[in-house]
Amino acid sequence: MKPTKLYCDLFGHNYQISKKVTNHVKEYTCKCCKKQLTTNSNGRLTELTAKRQEINSALERIYNNRTMRLKQKMLSSSIC
Ligand SMILES: [Zn+2]
Repeated sequence: MKPTKLYCDLFGHNYQISKKVTNHVKEYTCKCCKKQLTTNSNGRLTELTAKRQEINSALERIYNNRTMRLKQKMLSSSIC
């Protein structure tokens, strides 16, 4: 067992946001052991698996498209 892992077991993981997928979904990485978590559909934290990573990137695409459209709409309405 690595000392960093032992630290996490004793004191808990030191998670930092590694990626913002949407306003509600974020990915977290532990600074010590690099374990990754993400927010699931219930708003709870769950382990970031390959499948979840796929879901998140799809979510991110949808979210970015929507916010981009929203910005364009606001821009055009402010011009008019
Ligand atoms: Zn950790």
